[in-house]
Amino acid sequence: MGYALIISEVRRGVFEERNLDSIGIANLAGKDACLLIPEGNYNINSNMVDRIIKVKIEESLFLNPLIITGLITKIMDSLGLPDMVIFTHSSSGIEMASYLAGKMGLPIITDISGYEKNGDIFFKSYYSDKVFGQFRKIKDNPLILTVRSGSFKDFATDKGKQVEETTVEGLSDIEERSFVEYVEEEKTGVDITKAEFLLSLGRGIGNKDEIPKFEELAQLLKATISGSRPVVDKQWLPKERQVGTSGKTVKPKVYLAMGISGAFQHIAGMKDSECIIAVNKDPEAPIFQYAHYGIVGDANKIRDKLKDIIQGG
Ligand SMILES: Cc1cc2nc3c(=O)[nH]c(=O)nc-3n(C[C@H](O)[C@H](O)[C@H](O)COP(=O)(O)OP(=O)(O)OC[C@H]3O[C@@H](n4cnc5c(N)ncnc54)[C@H](O)[C@@H]3O)c2cc1C
Repeated sequence: MGYALIISEVRRGVFEERNLDSIGIANLAGKDACLLIPEGNYNINSNMVDRIIKVKIEESLFLNPLIITGLITKIMDSLGLPDMVIFTHSSSGIEMASYLAGKMGLPIITDISGYEKNGDIFFKSYYSDKVFGQFRKIKDNPLILTVRSGSFKDFATDKGKQVEETTVEGLSDIEERSFVEYVEEEKTGVDITKAEFLLSLGRGIGNKDEIPKFEELAQLLKATISGSRPVVDKQWLPKERQVGTSGKTVKPKVYLAMGISGAFQHIAGMKDSECIIAVNKDPEAPIFQYAHYGIVGDANKIRDKLKDIIQGG
């Protein structure tokens, strides 16, 4: 059967929800799921895995690719080679996985969003989910994966058996690179995760000058403005308004997306909204796959039309 070594993602005492996708793909592939985690009081349903290895290490060192590679080497020495080493597809997961692959000369597939057991095929998306590539491993060496958030969590279920738990010594910090501190983002008091109605803006609105016009619409709709990452990167909106994997996860009653394509990093942050309405001029835009209602058209013209209608024009 073989085993899958899962490198957990932990942040400031929290076991990140996206780890469930790493556990899920290990279970789906029928591997013994072996979870590597720093020692601490993390909130985990340990019955979802077969084995937990706790590492006596500070949490911040667990983000370091050099240290993780050292730890994985130690575990491979004692347990033998795993079939897979699984990371989350996050900024730290991608960094650690690619370092490990380069250092050990192992195959890697990043951003896995699907798996077919028959044939051992992994799926990875291109062009914002419009095309999928299929991959399979050729040699018998461990395959390194990074797993897309939200793809496999349904397979992270209770295995109904006793979990084996061991504790191993960690490694001390290394000189090449050292974690300094987390820096909190600047806050202006708007919490988009609490809003019931989000009017979310994407690059498709064109330029920064359009923002005040959308703010007027938001006022009329009693909505809060949020946005995609490019809109934040271009400083049209502050960072705290960003929805997505590197922003906030939101679940409003209504999510009105205007000029947003629907890249998975964005979708992961809003797909559980009760009602999703998308406005996009491209009928093939991926966001329409997730929307309950869709309007194909120019976001700025539709904004003005909506304002007219609400104002009785
Ligand atoms: C590690 C990583 C983390 C990321 N994290 C996030 C994240 O947290 N949040 C996030 O959003 N993205 C994130 N991204 C970026 C993500 O991959 C996409 O690039 C981004 O979501 C695209 O934003 P967008 O839809 O606004 O822009 P685009 O992809 O450029 O889409 C613009 C859309 O507007 C449409 N459009 C153009 N003109 C009009 C018009 N006049 N009227 C109507 N529609 C129009 C186009 O058809 C297109 O669909 C991340 C990427 C990486 C690599």
